[in-house]
Amino acid sequence: MRLAVLKERRPAETRVAATPETVKKFIALGLTVAVEAGAGAGAGIPDAEFTAAGAELAPDAAAALKDAGIVLKIRAPLAAGEGALDELALIPRGALMLGQLQATPEMAAAYAAAGIDAGAMELLPRITRAQSMDILSSQANLAGYRAVIEAASTFDRGFPMLMTAAGTIPAANVFVMGAGVAGLQAIATARRLGGRVSATDVRPAAKEEIKSLGASFVGHEDEESRAAQTAGGYAKPMSAGFMQKQGEVVAAHLAKQDIVITTALVQGRKAPTLVTAAMVESMKPGSVIVDIASDAGGNVALTKPGEAFTTPGGVTILGFNNWPGRIPAASSQLFARNLLTLLTTFWDKEAKVPKLPAEDDIVKGVMLTRGGAVVHPSFAPAQA
Ligand code: NAD
Repeated sequence: MRLAVLKERRPAETRVAATPETVKKFIALGLTVAVEAGAGAGAGIPDAEFTAAGAELAPDAAAALKDAGIVLKIRAPLAAGEGALDELALIPRGALMLGQLQATPEMAAAYAAAGIDAGAMELLPRITRAQSMDILSSQANLAGYRAVIEAASTFDRGFPMLMTAAGTIPAANVFVMGAGVAGLQAIATARRLGGRVSATDVRPAAKEEIKSLGASFVGHEDEESRAAQTAGGYAKPMSAGFMQKQGEVVAAHLAKQDIVITTALVQGRKAPTLVTAAMVESMKPGSVIVDIASDAGGNVALTKPGEAFTTPGGVTILGFNNWPGRIPAASSQLFARNLLTLLTTFWDKEAKVPKLPAEDDIVKGVMLTRGGAVVHPSFAPAQA
């Protein structure tokens, strides 16, 4: 069977869904691998490294996809009218495609119509067995790290307390909003740099995790927050009343912060607004806000998704999209490993093809379409 790796064509996408290391492993499984020329350029992987690993270099997407039984992507393929190339139309019917595929009813219907078996890795259940295949975790971890590094390089003072013969520079106050995978990594990174770190979240489990990393917890707690976690481990959308009380606690704290990293997401919805324009105005000139949630609309009312700018009050807001893509070699390496692990977990060694049992929890969680039909319970058309 042939496995194809495409160059990513969506704006600001720097990552690639396979690395020379995973290519070698796929070949060892019995696959032949075709990599589109230039696929690794954004992540610093030259074509020659893919060919040295045993891949065939394809001059374009059509050549890479010819007769492919498996297609690996970072992001959803372009469809007709979305860009210069209709990638979706080039993917052979019956192929298994894995990536962060923008699972929506419309996309699921498009994959079904194209006859592609689409596995949306962002829907992977957050269970222990699936941890090593979890693209949301691997990418959020790096986003949290990168956000702090970019905040530090934008900030015009240091993170640690610097005691010098010429005087003392105080430690930076760093506030992390949302302490999931990205937020916890941001806390750990800011602590390592010497910042004085505090954090907030709504899920009750997060408070202990924040403290275990040596940061202080700031936030409103009540009956609603004690029940704020879904069975899947995600935050529930919070009521306007809770957000108001949370906002009051946070507003007083924000005015004293030098660096704010916002990471709060609520599955399937626009990111909650945690920082209002008035809160930004209360911050000192020179402060830096990094909004990792910008892809989902942002946690900061003033964020301009995809951009960095400084307010008239001197607060710089970094609202770049695709934070994992800002550290592309590492994020590609981990994304590629996540895909490799899923395929090796569900691999028929005799037939040298993927074997995805429909009743398996991971398969059930990930597969949007199979055999030309939408099979995912959250996206399948309602039964008559
Ligand atoms: P996420 O990206 O969905 O959200 C980021 C954080 O924002 C979460 O901690 C969430 O509680 C928080 N948040 C949402 N609304 C908020 C608000 N109004 N104010 C403040 N914070 C708010 O979260 P994630 O990083 O994907 O983690 C989700 C869950 O999955 C967590 O419980 C995590 O421990 C769990 N998880 C489990 C596994 C596993 O077992 N395989 C792997 C990764 C994550």
